[in-house]
Amino acid sequence: MNDKIWLSSPHMGGTEMKYIQHAFDENWIAPLGPNVNGLEKDLETYLEKDVHVAVLSSGTAALHLALILLDIKPGDFVICQSLTFSASANPIIYIGAIPIFVDSEKDTWNLCPNAVEDAIKFGISQGKKPKAIITVSLYGMPYKVDEISEISARYEIPVIEDSAEALGSTYKNQKCGTFGDLSVISFNGNKIITTSGGGALVVKNQEYKNKAVFLSTQAKDDAPHYEHTSIGYNYRMSNICAGIGRGQMEVLDLRVQQRRANHNFYKDLFKDDSRFVLHTEPSADYFSNHWLNLIYIEPGKNYNRETIRQKFLDHQIETRPIWKPMHLQPIFKGSHYFGGDLAGQLFQNGLCLPSGSNMTENDLNRITSVYKDFDSLH
Ligand SMILES: *Cc1c(COP(=O)(O)O)cnc(C)c1O
Repeated sequence: MNDKIWLSSPHMGGTEMKYIQHAFDENWIAPLGPNVNGLEKDLETYLEKDVHVAVLSSGTAALHLALILLDIKPGDFVICQSLTFSASANPIIYIGAIPIFVDSEKDTWNLCPNAVEDAIKFGISQGKKPKAIITVSLYGMPYKVDEISEISARYEIPVIEDSAEALGSTYKNQKCGTFGDLSVISFNGNKIITTSGGGALVVKNQEYKNKAVFLSTQAKDDAPHYEHTSIGYNYRMSNICAGIGRGQMEVLDLRVQQRRANHNFYKDLFKDDSRFVLHTEPSADYFSNHWLNLIYIEPGKNYNRETIRQKFLDHQIETRPIWKPMHLQPIFKGSHYFGGDLAGQLFQNGLCLPSGSNMTENDLNRITSVYKDFDSLH
């Protein structure tokens, strides 16, 4: 039996244990220490902008803190891309705020600017201008940054940029993770680099960073005893996990190259095949880390997305439908939604393909040979 080929699995670089060993040697077995500070510095350098980074226990925690830092309150409206992973939207509910979901546009599959504007006008008509726009660079593809930034500026609504999947991507040569008023990165096990579990909040000034660190370490006021004037959270990253992150940062550029090489493999594989349309950058402004590769499968007489998924699975190859949009999820039933049905169509017909940076030549050959079996499908 062949080993399973996964969608995206952890890929260590080799120096992670050195940082972990250091933490053990110095007894920094805590959610603070040299690896925590070091990883924050590494990320600030990598992002190449005047930003401040707070590393946290998860990307979800970073999104939750972003909403808190923007002072979003129960009953407020928050706009969120519908085609995303649930963690983009769940923190809106943690706060007691109300999501307004928005469809994607066809170039990037991310937020449709026209639908965002409709959502804002709806909020205003209800006497409640939305308090934030959560943008997503899904699968590593940057969203339409200029268009959304223009709307954000015109209506004076801050952007929370969910770049959980987009570390290493750029838009007009600027790194994803620097576009939001607040930006979020994830280091979950399946992401382009990992700390096993972890995330980061990227902010524009030291004051926000201090506040994020304060809130993520139980909001302890300055006193000899435990004194609290704010509700705190236990959201700081462990110094052990941060050690993994420091090792992973050393190979991030290589991981981007490897994922982009996978994209070229699929581009070549599907190049003369109108049945499977590979999602790719709409122009040279966009540089995706190609965290995952996606195909859109227009159903034929004897195949559709599900039959293709099953055929890969029969050969121990994991694929997964494109993320199911939030406005179609049972947990968000009856939510506000603006746009057409592109996100729904992408879910119905889209498939994520194995895209790990650790895929071998043999793995690619197995994918090719299963694909060759599709020749008879029409
Ligand atoms: C993974 C992910 C998150 C959540 O990050 P965690 O670190 O797993 O909490 C949020 N948004 C998107 C789009 C993601 O893919």
